[in-house]
Amino acid sequence: MIYRLSKYPLYAKILIGMLFGVVFGLMAINLEWINFTNNWISPFGEIFIRLLTLIAIPLILVSLTKGVSDLKDTSRLSKMGLKTISLYIVSTVIAISIGLVLVNLIKPGNFFPEEQQQILFEKYSESVGSRKADAESLESKGPLQFIVDMVPENIFYSVSKNSLMLQSIFFALLFGIAIILLPEKRTQPVKDLVGSLNEIVLKIIAIIMNFAPIGVFALIASVIVDVAGDNPADSLSLFSALGMYGLVVIIGILIMILLVYPIVVSLITHKSYFNFLKGIFPAQLVAFSTSSSAATLPVTKKCVEENLGVSEEVSSFVVPIGATINMDGTSLYQAVAAVFIAQVFGIDLSFGEMLTIVLTATLASIGSAAVPGAGMIMLLVVLSSVNIPPEGLALIFAVDRPLDMLRTCVNITGDSAISTIVNKGWKKNNDNKPGQVS
Ligand code: ASP
Repeated sequence: MIYRLSKYPLYAKILIGMLFGVVFGLMAINLEWINFTNNWISPFGEIFIRLLTLIAIPLILVSLTKGVSDLKDTSRLSKMGLKTISLYIVSTVIAISIGLVLVNLIKPGNFFPEEQQQILFEKYSESVGSRKADAESLESKGPLQFIVDMVPENIFYSVSKNSLMLQSIFFALLFGIAIILLPEKRTQPVKDLVGSLNEIVLKIIAIIMNFAPIGVFALIASVIVDVAGDNPADSLSLFSALGMYGLVVIIGILIMILLVYPIVVSLITHKSYFNFLKGIFPAQLVAFSTSSSAATLPVTKKCVEENLGVSEEVSSFVVPIGATINMDGTSLYQAVAAVFIAQVFGIDLSFGEMLTIVLTATLASIGSAAVPGAGMIMLLVVLSSVNIPPEGLALIFAVDRPLDMLRTCVNITGDSAISTIVNKGWKKNNDNKPGQVS
């Protein structure tokens, strides 16, 4: 049986894991296996996320150093950097604009039952308080602080903290640039070492991915149990109260995945979007289950290289940076959530305030860590920029996790789409060998 299962492609195995997770989760709620799930199932999901996150920093360090040093000259690097960052900003602004148009057209705030407002405020006031403290500490910093924060003081400290991924990226870029600038003879031993470390990291990822179906099963089962909470009937009524808001976020996400990326990818790369989606599907499933672009990074990189034919040179640069700064799904959600909360509070936002949302949601999504729930903390920055009371966060708390799972899928799909676009026309040093992740 296990032998037969090993012949299925990765996405099929992950899908089977998910399906079992859903079935088990629903059974656990009905049969009240909540403690059993928390004690005996959830740890496997946590182990899977830990394994993926464990390899994210080594992957960034070796693959980015290798990618940059293979570029051979710094002008190629700055060209790729400029193209990547501009595309990331454009895609984020498009996502926010779609979110704003939808939320202003559908007005989900008008569908929100007033009596739920007080219930939600009481239920989530404590959680909002702790998120507020996190956001306030971020806000108290100056406008250029986010650039200062990218520069590491001590690389050993930076690599020991996953939340400082941008600092590891910065160091790997600097290290790679130094290699390019030195004569090849002097750096060849280091390049060989980095090359072989890269092979080892890729092998570790392949080993971890064997565990993906079980990890995904455990993650989905525990999310279902968590979201249902102690009182499934209560949770269901909250979900239906927030249904319209969730629907607007989901429509926006679908527009991004089924319209924006397909049009842009097929127009620019002349490749079939169906193949693009098929290639990235395993990473989308992992993003959905883990709610973390950082944890998904090893899988996203593997998928774009092996299934979409993006050269390692391009993917090593574009994907890790995208995982940390490009979050189209998160920015779309932040725009919808901010306006939804304003609508519930009866606050009319002017056109200027909408533009402020575009700007702050762009910055907030860049600043959001690639971990579960990070987008919600940064949403507080968007709310305060247009004077929406931060307590409004309590209104959307209940449905945040499922929406986080979906927006993380968009986040990694955006990174992958842009990596195929940057790859197009890029003079590759090495041959691409498109294959299958399995
Ligand atoms: N979970 C998202 C990610 O890792 C960030 C967020 O929107 O909360 O991409």
